[in-house]
Amino acid sequence: VDGIELVSDGQLTTCTHLPYEPFQFREGEEIVGFDVDLVDLVAEDLGVEQAIVDTPFDTIQSGADLDTGKCDVAAAGMTINDVREENIDFADPYFDASQALLVAADSDIEGEADLAGLRVAVQTGTTGQEWARENLPDSELVTFEDLALLTAYVQNGEVDAGINDNGVLYDFAGDNPDVAVVAEFDTGEQYGVAVRTGNDALRERINEVLAAAREDGRYDEIYEKWFGT
Ligand code: GLN
Repeated sequence: VDGIELVSDGQLTTCTHLPYEPFQFREGEEIVGFDVDLVDLVAEDLGVEQAIVDTPFDTIQSGADLDTGKCDVAAAGMTINDVREENIDFADPYFDASQALLVAADSDIEGEADLAGLRVAVQTGTTGQEWARENLPDSELVTFEDLALLTAYVQNGEVDAGINDNGVLYDFAGDNPDVAVVAEFDTGEQYGVAVRTGNDALRERINEVLAAAREDGRYDEIYEKWFGT
């Protein structure tokens, strides 16, 4: 389509790392979420269907999945940063995020200062892990492969707290009254959909679709669907 070559004919293949609710997660047989709806707009614009591949977050951000042609795009609630820009190309930002702190609802922990000497869960390869390494030198960081494990360990009390992006943690706490988000750390992050380095045709098309969706209300509809009250 218009100088855009897709790795599989007739479909836009998206790499993601499940689950990252409400950005991408399984609902029955289906994979749904904010990122899924957003990339669907790109697929629709290209006249193809989106096909989603679940893959480790590390091979998404390292560029391996995009470089080997596993996927056309990566959409994984992934923060745009300089290190990743060396390996993949990001389209324009589509979502603002910061880090946040999840604890048991009956915990006394109120913020960063209370975490010294405690076990704090982080997710491998994420900006949250990086933030915790820099800012919590006196905590024992316990690393999990995905968000579902991290939140489960906060719930069952095997860790004292968990660090992850504010959007996913508020969503989880909203569904689970036994935990609460008690602090946010203003890391000023922005999510971007990524393409293989140099795939400007696809990156520019994503930017056009995103701009149009922000303009005509489709972006707001998707936002409301996943984050509205
Ligand atoms: N936004 C965070 C990052 O980019 C977490 C993303 C994720 O776990 N899917 O590292």
